[in-house]
This record gives sequence, C-alpha cells and structure tokens, in this order.
Amino acid sequence: MTNRVYNFNAGPSTLPLEVLQQAQEELLNYQGTGMSVMEISHRAKEYEAINAEAEASLKELLNLGDDYRVLFLQGGASTQFTMIPMNFLTPEKTADYILTGAWSEKAQKEAVKFGQVHVAASTQEGNYVRIPEFNEIKLSEAPAYVHLTSNNTIFGTQWQEFPGFGDVPLIADMSSDILSHPFDASKFSLIYAGAQKNLGPSGVTVVIIRQSMIDQAPKSLPSMLRYDIHAKNNSLYNTPPTFSVYMVNLVLRWLKAQGGLTAIGQHNEAKAALIYDAIDQSSGFYTGHAEKNSRSRMNITFRLPSEELEKAFNAEATKQGMIGLKGHRSVGGMRASTYNAMPLAGCQALADFMKDFQRRNG
Ligand code: PMP
Repeated sequence: MTNRVYNFNAGPSTLPLEVLQQAQEELLNYQGTGMSVMEISHRAKEYEAINAEAEASLKELLNLGDDYRVLFLQGGASTQFTMIPMNFLTPEKTADYILTGAWSEKAQKEAVKFGQVHVAASTQEGNYVRIPEFNEIKLSEAPAYVHLTSNNTIFGTQWQEFPGFGDVPLIADMSSDILSHPFDASKFSLIYAGAQKNLGPSGVTVVIIRQSMIDQAPKSLPSMLRYDIHAKNNSLYNTPPTFSVYMVNLVLRWLKAQGGLTAIGQHNEAKAALIYDAIDQSSGFYTGHAEKNSRSRMNITFRLPSEELEKAFNAEATKQGMIGLKGHRSVGGMRASTYNAMPLAGCQALADFMKDFQRRNG
C-alpha cells in the first residue's frame, strides 16, 4: 500500500515511485557499507561512483561528448542567474536576454548588477502567453551570450524549437523541462536546472557546460561562484548535496530504462494532449493561458469561468487525490504540472475529472 496521490505540484514535484522505493530499500545500508548514502564521505569511492555515473548518464541522455562537463552545484537555479553574468559578462560585451516569463525576468535583473544588459525579445505584453518568433529576436552588437528560459513554469509556455546565433554562446534555464523531450543539446554552451522538477529532489542544481566556457571566470571571483573551480574538482570542491545527487542518479537510471528522451518525449506529449483536449473540447468552459503553438507539455495553465468555480474545482480534485493544481497568483486559475514522473494515468484521471466537473457545473 502506498496511498500516493497524483501530485501536480510545480516543484518540488512528483518522483518516480520505483526510485523512491529503491531509495527506501537502500536507506539503512547502502551497498553493504552499513551506512546510508547520507552518512558516507563525499570522498568515499561509493560516492565518487555515484557522481561519475550521474555525469555520464546526463551526457549520454543528451548525446554530448567530451567537450561538455556536468556539474552538481548548490544554490538553486537562482544562483545560476548570478553566476552566469559573473563568469561571462565582460565590460566590452552585453548580456542578451529573451524574456518569456517571471524566471527569465529574474535572470535578467541579476545580470544588470554586473554589466550591460540587452533585452533581445520579450513577450511580456499580454502577460507572457507565447514564445517569440525567431524574427522578433534582435541581438545587441557584442553579445557575451544569449539567455533564454526553455519552459516557463508559471505561464505554461515552452520553446518548441530553439534558435541558434552562430558563435554567440546560447545559455538556457531548463529547470522545468530538462530531459523531457529530445533536442539538440550541442546548440547550447550552458544549460542549467534546479533538480526539483524533472531530475530529483531539491538541493542540487545541474549545470551542463561546454569546456571552452569553463575558463572564462575573472580570477577575482569568489571560488564557490567559479565554474572552473567546480569543474577542476569534479563538483567536489566542497561537500556536495550527496543525497540529492544520489537521487538524481537513480532518476537518470529510471529515465534510461524508460527508453531515454525519445520515449519520454512521446509519453509527455500523450499526457499533455489528454489535458489540452479537455480544455479544447470544453466549448470555452476551460480557457488555456498559453497560445496553442507555445503550449508547454510540462505546465498546463487554464482558467475556469469564475474564481468560485476554480476554488470548487481545486477542492474537489484534492478530495479525489489530485493535488497541487492551484495556479500561480500572477496567472490565476489552475496549473497542472506533468513532469516526467507523472504517469499517464494521472493525466487521464485529471482529464476525466475536468469533463465530469464541467458536466456538473457548465
Ligand atoms: N527557473 C525556472 C524556470 C523555475 O521554474 C524555477 C523554480 N520554480 C527557478 C528558475 C528557480 O529555481 P530555484 O528555486 O532552484 O532557485
């Protein structure tokens, strides 16, 4: 008996049951050490094996070679908002940001503290209902990098295809859709993600960085904020969040066993379609926030005809074991987060409930 709910929270969020069960089985005695993984040294061979396997699995899943490193850092995706300009924004260059939601705004606002910043495109007008067309993106004259947010957790929009800017390094915050579908990771010079949505528990931030970017940090930067220091030390410069990295490693093994990005991409597509179909077939009872060609397959945002109905929807769904559906206050309404670990049955249950709720209240 697990008594588990369908957890539609935006993050921290649902994890694969098999992963939780394995962690439970191994909790008291990790691989015959007589200790939990939380109690062993981060210098122990058992932990170094976890660290190395997790790096190798990420590179394998993203089809990246030796010109990339994977780092396991702390401070959340929010610390990356700061580290990126600190490491890469030089006085003669400009940091270019594409604004598609609250998180890209936060990233851009941090960069302003360190140098010149240019907004290369923004879909703020209309409250971030869409991703910009490529021809709307206007770079500055000397960009140090271009930053985008691949999936907008709050607004429920997602880049369907990524732009490329030649030699200008492309950097992406993929916190809410990393490893959710196949894409060409080699387009990116740096990808980062807080783990707590698609990768594992909170506490660790994954940074995938091209080798040629690593040594750009000005020597005056504090050690903990330098990519080169973390890379040279294999993410073991200081004590890493060992339990979180262990969990990420189990999630990556799980993802490989599911068939990798192609399989999970199809699965996520099918899951999201169930809920979007319920919206589209509701004759306007449910209205999606995102424009159709910008829709996210990870965070599905929609409204009901009134706030009273939204409250009732949330309360009834909770009673039926579907939790975490209340939307972010800046969008209102509902948000169903359907990350990799959300089973198809959870999305089917929500779609069925949406139709039933409309029948009774429409
Ligand atoms: N970027 C995105 C796209 C997010 O969804 C979030 C968290 N919801 C963050 C950044 C911030 O992440 P953290 O809490 O790990 O700093």
